[in-house]
Amino acid sequence: MKIAVTVNEVREQVNEWKRQGFSVGLVPTMGYLHEGHKSLITCAVSENDRVVASVFVNPMQFGPSEDLESYPRDMDRDAALCEEAGVDLIFHPEPSEMYHNGFSSYVDMNTLTGGLCGKSRPVHFRGVCTVVAKLFNIVMPDRAYFGQKDAQQLAVIRHMADDLSYGIEIKGCPIIREEDGLAKSSRNTYLNKEERQAALVLNRALSEGRKLIEAGERDAASIKDTVTSVINAEPLARIDYVEIVSWDLLEPVKNIDGPVLVAVAVFIGKTRLIDNFIALED
Ligand code: AMP
Repeated sequence: MKIAVTVNEVREQVNEWKRQGFSVGLVPTMGYLHEGHKSLITCAVSENDRVVASVFVNPMQFGPSEDLESYPRDMDRDAALCEEAGVDLIFHPEPSEMYHNGFSSYVDMNTLTGGLCGKSRPVHFRGVCTVVAKLFNIVMPDRAYFGQKDAQQLAVIRHMADDLSYGIEIKGCPIIREEDGLAKSSRNTYLNKEERQAALVLNRALSEGRKLIEAGERDAASIKDTVTSVINAEPLARIDYVEIVSWDLLEPVKNIDGPVLVAVAVFIGKTRLIDNFIALED
């Protein structure tokens, strides 16, 4: 496994692979890798001849009061996990390699990014779309892998890849959880013992919502009420949002009559966690 820090190194390696007729899969990450990232890599390894994982804490997708500085980093551990999972090349650039002095071109999206996480993180998706567009241009993969854990991001990237005619297959992978149900996240490391216990409320609340839908409930407001009241019963939790939106364009729905995304963002202490499920998907 190689570790590349420059765009040129990645291009040279990928060009070499393409000359040999190899397919290439890309797994974009911000590092501090866990089983969730590993599942994306495993899927990419099974579907492509060569796999590139990027490890880049992208400053552009953090707001001014967010956790860019404190975001956890451990490149040695990440490299070991990537190697074990079968990654062929890690792209680990410095911010200056991705955003040179005078950088001023952005990829922005008018739909899909206004609600859910886009509402409380107004610059987030511009940063995500711009960095992913750059990674697509640098790696030119056949397929790229994203977790349903960040469901809005998955929908946004699918839309962007289609809008901008990338010709890259965007693959969504299921949410990987801890044994007690908490969705794995690099940010879980911020939680102290009490908060870690309180964080279980996200999955617990969503499970209640899922049960209602499985029992035939179709009124979005009543499902949201149930999810909201489960979360509000946890003293350490503060809701950012509880939303039910269509699972394509992420538009709010009143009556559930097709695939929907049921998504929550909740502060546990100072840590903002997200979780979701998709219902009535074919
Ligand atoms: P991040 O490093 O948090 O930016 O995540 C990189 C990729 O891993 C994104 O596509 C995430 O959706 C995905 N991911 C993160 N956590 C999980 C998880 N628990 N299960 C599945 N995919 C995940």
